[in-house]
Amino acid sequence: MTELRGVGIGLGVAQGPVARMAEPSPAPSDAPSALSADEETARVTEAVAAVARELEKRGALAGGAAKDVLEAQAMMAEDPSLEAEVATRLSSGKTAEWAVFDAFASFRDMLSAMGGYLGERAADLDDVAQRVIAHLRGVPAPGVPDPGHPFILVAKDLAPADTALLDLDKVLALITTEGGPTSHTAILAREKSIVAVVGVQGAKDLVEGETVIVDAAGGVVTTEPSDADLARAQNRADARASAASAPITPGALADGTAVPLLANLGSPKGAAEAVELGAEGVGLFRTEFLFLSSSSAPTVEQQRESYSALLAAFPGKKVVVRVLDAGADKPLPFLNDAHEENPALGLRGIRALRASEDILREQLTALAQADAATSADLWVMAPMVATVEETEYFVALAKDYGIKTAGVMVEVPSSALLADRVLAHADFASIGTNDLTQYTMAADRLLGSVAAFQDPWHPAVLRLIREVGDAGAMHGRPVGICGEAAADPLLAVVLVGLGATSLSMAPTAIADVRASLLEHTTQDARRIAEAALGANDATSARDAARVASRTPEAAHAAAN
Ligand code: PEP
Ligand code: MG
Repeated sequence: MTELRGVGIGLGVAQGPVARMAEPSPAPSDAPSALSADEETARVTEAVAAVARELEKRGALAGGAAKDVLEAQAMMAEDPSLEAEVATRLSSGKTAEWAVFDAFASFRDMLSAMGGYLGERAADLDDVAQRVIAHLRGVPAPGVPDPGHPFILVAKDLAPADTALLDLDKVLALITTEGGPTSHTAILAREKSIVAVVGVQGAKDLVEGETVIVDAAGGVVTTEPSDADLARAQNRADARASAASAPITPGALADGTAVPLLANLGSPKGAAEAVELGAEGVGLFRTEFLFLSSSSAPTVEQQRESYSALLAAFPGKKVVVRVLDAGADKPLPFLNDAHEENPALGLRGIRALRASEDILREQLTALAQADAATSADLWVMAPMVATVEETEYFVALAKDYGIKTAGVMVEVPSSALLADRVLAHADFASIGTNDLTQYTMAADRLLGSVAAFQDPWHPAVLRLIREVGDAGAMHGRPVGICGEAAADPLLAVVLVGLGATSLSMAPTAIADVRASLLEHTTQDARRIAEAALGANDATSARDAARVASRTPEAAHAAAN
């Protein structure tokens, strides 16, 4: 048995066989082949036929629209004009891999130049070429694998689009070698309740088909588990499933202090499930997730439709919508068109919106229209606000459009440090602990090699949160938390102790956080927060909070 360490997302545990996500193959070299042209032709014929049959088989299994798409790809693979192009290259002594690469690329360029429907098929052709080359090389085809049974997906990292499209009947858990706890892969994994451990550098050595246990609560992947390990993991998975069915009550501390538990959502589609899991409203609606694949700005009508669907799911409840947070790992082509060396420090969030103010104005128009048509209590906030001036700008603009409650996200240390002045202008603040940690610790939230720094338990981050909590209390303004930190049951108690008045998280985390809050009074929360603040680093802060969170008797027993 070996244990590989990473950063767990959520508290789940799962077990199953590994299937790796293949990396895109490197381009073949155009060195001359050691084989004859006939031998290379035979290799291509076999590879193309195998890929075409595989695509047809997948299409038949998938059915519906996917069947048509995959059958069209199979036909492309065996297109006679492509075969002729490949043959020309083979006759000049090239390898099968290069001939396929080059012939398919020339066809792809031709299709792209035609534009329209045919132009859109260019990417499909690339996919076919990648599959044929992978077959020739004897390596798995790129993309999410389909071994034909449920599996644990191992990948370097996933694009948000890949994560969003994962088939949850098949993917039991996710392990990535890259990525920190607040990468958008992690966020989507949490949203979809996928058991995940990210930033597991040792995972690159996991063998296809081997059984592993993925323990998100411990941030551990266990290889070669014993039968006893597997049985224990199964018991834990069963126990969590039954805890999730405990009665749903509004979020509150043991002394009755209300701490509303809200949902982080990226699409109105998640609303029904959030309500079912006990969300008392929405604390963060990431509007940019709706438009990640759009090349042009969404229209007011498109937006109004999405926002109305969201608001309609929460009649009478608070719904906090964030205006587009474009940039860094969530570029929107219509807002971020310039190349930036350090996009996390670039024209993102409110800066990008200000640079394209029409888009911001249209979004506020759509939000105000959706608000007028529904009965939810709409709050709107701006991302990545770094200055008091940006706060004034956004709040004034939002009010011009009739938005009644306008606030800002505190994700940049500068706005946490000046929270007393920021909250003099904003109706509320919502702390994005993911970016606040990234910028406080100078650690890219996407980079596995610095994932250990991306820890919101760090006392430097906690101090900044306390600044905002104190400013909220001084001005009588709500201070929510909507970063992933709110989903950590013990850290949630600390955040309340630092002055947070509501917590927003992936709906699947609500049950665990609710249970944790109910175990502590306001006084306990403040004491536990003080213990964490007094530590020198994240690990000691977590340990100190654990000790302080035990009942005095249990803490005394543990200390002796
Ligand atoms: C955050 O930074 O904590 C946050 C909630 O915003 P996002 O994760 O979408 O950047
Ligand atoms: Mg953020």
